[in-house]
Amino acid sequence: MGEITVALAGNPNSGKTTIFNSLTGARQHVGNWPGVTVEKKEGTFNLNSFQVKVVDLPGTYSLTAYSLDERIARDFLVRERPHVVVVVVDASNLERNLYLVTQLLELGANVVLDLNMIDLAERKGFCVKPEKLSKILGVPVVLTVANKGEGIEELKKAVVEAAKRGRKSSFKIDYGRDIEGGIRELQKAVKESGVLVAYPPRWVAIKILEKDAEVLERIENSGRGERIKALSLQIASRLESKFGYGDLETLLVEKRYGFISGLIRECVERKMSFEERVSVSDRIDRVVTNKFLGIPIFFLVMWLTFELTFTMAAPFVDLIDVFFTWLASASSSLISSLGGPVWLSSLIADGVIGGLGSVLVFLPNILMLFLAIAILEDSGYMARAAFVMDRLMHALGLHGKSFIPMVIGFGCNIPAVMATRTLESRKDRILTILIIPLMSCTARLPIYTLFAGAFFPEHQGLVVFSLYFLGIVLAILVARVFKEIFFRGEVAPLVMELPPYRVPSFRGVLIHMWERGSLFLKKAGKIIFISVIFIWLLASLPFGVEYGSQASFIGKIGTMFAPLLRPAGFGTWQAAVALLFGLVAKEVVVGALGTLYGVEEGALKSVLMHHFNPLSAYAFMVMSLIYIPCIATIAVI
Ligand code: GDP
Ligand code: MG
Repeated sequence: MGEITVALAGNPNSGKTTIFNSLTGARQHVGNWPGVTVEKKEGTFNLNSFQVKVVDLPGTYSLTAYSLDERIARDFLVRERPHVVVVVVDASNLERNLYLVTQLLELGANVVLDLNMIDLAERKGFCVKPEKLSKILGVPVVLTVANKGEGIEELKKAVVEAAKRGRKSSFKIDYGRDIEGGIRELQKAVKESGVLVAYPPRWVAIKILEKDAEVLERIENSGRGERIKALSLQIASRLESKFGYGDLETLLVEKRYGFISGLIRECVERKMSFEERVSVSDRIDRVVTNKFLGIPIFFLVMWLTFELTFTMAAPFVDLIDVFFTWLASASSSLISSLGGPVWLSSLIADGVIGGLGSVLVFLPNILMLFLAIAILEDSGYMARAAFVMDRLMHALGLHGKSFIPMVIGFGCNIPAVMATRTLESRKDRILTILIIPLMSCTARLPIYTLFAGAFFPEHQGLVVFSLYFLGIVLAILVARVFKEIFFRGEVAPLVMELPPYRVPSFRGVLIHMWERGSLFLKKAGKIIFISVIFIWLLASLPFGVEYGSQASFIGKIGTMFAPLLRPAGFGTWQAAVALLFGLVAKEVVVGALGTLYGVEEGALKSVLMHHFNPLSAYAFMVMSLIYIPCIATIAVI
């Protein structure tokens, strides 16, 4: 069995005794005040074939041998020559703790650096990069949380490895050209005179320049120090006059601290601590939830979210659309070139591929929306948005957070319904979901523009706006009524917790986005797909009819429904069938009207003039707004 002696050195209260106890299993008294360990304590542990003797030294800030503690520590390190010195460092207070490390390295100790109290360091917002620290100092670095026993095994291994290697760090602090010159001269003199041979000559030279009492005394006592003494006086006065300092010792200490602060800048990332984040958050909140600025800022954020969800996703939507259109025509021409029947190519192209496309085409919007929401939530803004909108939304019997899904609903109802997942209360979620279809989504816009352009050419904008406005008014009424009927008396008192702001993590945001986005594919995808194929069947059967004509099943259903629509002023089978096709997607309505009246979209306006009057046209637009939303929305609901 190999025997290894390890000394634990470190500042008072850095956790040496705790480390000692967890290494050796001993029960030394652990105290949260300096000076508890005045005498050194010993214990052992075994690892592999090594028996390791651990010595817990008293806590010291430096090795200058001013106090009894420092002397005990230094004497042990110098005289007993432990194989390894573990420097236990309070990682939450690196600046002061690293000073001892630099001194031990100068003394030529075989150092293992133990960054203890990593938990406190993290809470204070320090993120230490151990690899970099290890590389610069040339010593192994281990991270521990001693009072929880974390990292102790790694520390044991590092100790044994260091003992086996026996190599010391070649690390040196560079004191600058002038001082280094003095150190070199003294170092040479020390070597030649043969004093203090047990110590590294460079260390002795530095101690002489520092006027270390013990070192000077021992040189004096050796009887061979005359030349060194004369030389040191000469060098000191030369350097002191050069720097204009009365005191070389202070200069050396400053150089060490200078090095340490550079080292910390290299190896420690400073994030804001919890307390700092809270105070910064308070300052941001003073603006963001301000009485006057709060709502404009909120609308700005909403606008950005909307842009991200729809504008940024648009190219991807187009890409998917183009791809599926291409795939449909390619596969139908392939089937007919192979001599397949027309119904089969229609089933594959219009039914299956069309159905698949109609599901996937929403995915970019949904992913972008969830990206935006994940950023808003993770950063902490969502809570503020809810806070800002809460008063207004409460008047509708809704939660402040309901506002975001409603705004999203103007783009597309599907992601809007998905966005209600951010509401915690079931009641709020259901109420919000129920009114979202009343938000005029972009798919309804082509219907509005077609009819408004044909029948109200003078007031197009006003007519379209009136429909958006009608949707909002209806939403408010519906919310109030449903709340009275279904959720009476359930007034959830609102306590909005406002967590401190954070910069959201890239990974976290992506995970959030994907978790929610894939849910849409899994849950809604199947229903949408099956329904689209079902509608295709209704439009194609019975065999041999023209797709979507009055003779097809869908045409028959439309004819059946037409009388019901007569009071609204548009009781034709074509209008009914167009609305039925609108179940697949509201975008389809305009195209379906063109097909049913047998004209191109350009000529559609003049044809519509024969079948609608301004009043029934407006009624048709209102119907498009308030009747059953598209299948994809229903599926998501
Ligand atoms: P010593 O003066 O260097 O011997 O330090 P002690 O071992 O007496 O520890 C001082 C205090 O710090 C004690 O209250 C320990 O419980 C505590 N402590 C030690 N290590 C850790 C650590 O990694 N994390 C935290 N949070 N506290 C620690
Ligand atoms: Mg102690």
